[in-house]
Amino acid sequence: MTALPWSFTGKVCVVTGAGKGIGRAITLAFADAGAAVVAVSRTHEDLETLGRERRFKGGAGILPITGDVSDEATVKRVVARALKRFDRIDVLVNNAGIRFRRSLLKSSTTEWRRVLSHNLTSCFLCTREVGRSMIARKVPGRIVNIASVIGSVGLPDLSAYGASKGGMITLTKCLALEWAPYQINVNAIAPGFCETSYAAQFKRRRALYRFTLERTPQRRWGKPEDVAAAAVFLSSEASRYITGEVLHVDGGWCAW
Ligand code: NAP
Repeated sequence: MTALPWSFTGKVCVVTGAGKGIGRAITLAFADAGAAVVAVSRTHEDLETLGRERRFKGGAGILPITGDVSDEATVKRVVARALKRFDRIDVLVNNAGIRFRRSLLKSSTTEWRRVLSHNLTSCFLCTREVGRSMIARKVPGRIVNIASVIGSVGLPDLSAYGASKGGMITLTKCLALEWAPYQINVNAIAPGFCETSYAAQFKRRRALYRFTLERTPQRRWGKPEDVAAAAVFLSSEASRYITGEVLHVDGGWCAW
């Protein structure tokens, strides 16, 4: 019998920003599907909890590595560790990112650089390092970039964030063309508003929260698991003929 298109048995997946929210849900989904998951995040305690939930055994489970993926030396160290342990990487999910809401006039150059560094440069660094290993080992790889609806439609006070996510989307499309000859599929997911670590704080701004619900045709925020399901699909055999795509997981936000 041929393997199910959703099976990740024998696959090695690297997920950045795995400690909380969407990255955490993606990590658990891959582990549940039988993958070995290299989970990278900044806060060590988050990774310890994750590692306890799905211990690494028999070639599957979670291997946690603490580190900041906006730092080039750290990215090289993480990828080298993953390759030393598994000798290949099949899937990279660039999920690490920070949110930042401020009017452009009040944004400092340091803040602008920080958002671009955590959201876009981290994606460039990880993709270059992992992609190099996929090409050298002839691995038909999958790269999934977690962008945002704000990467293609605007909202006030999100210029830096939107620019970083728009950059991820264009990076995705250029690289899909560049790496198609190597059988590496590069896609993006654009989530709408999701129930993660900032939700409680956001919901205190009642008018803004009401606006996000009214603007979403499904009238709810997404769950991290909604995004994880799309990430699993775009990393699986089921999506083998899809590359350069942006999959909106937004309850219809971008259908207007
Ligand atoms: P979250 O709850 O804040 O979790 C983000 C995780 O990424 C945290 O564990 C964080 O570590 C880690 N991280 C951030 N920067 C990192 C870096 N440079 N190196 C390593 N780890 C890093 O965020 P989320 O809401 O799940 O968002 C995940 C991704 O989805 C982000 O790229 C975000 O822009 C995107 N997104 C989210 C939404 C939404 O509504 N939630 C909507 C659209 C797109 P620390 O805990 O140490 O900070």
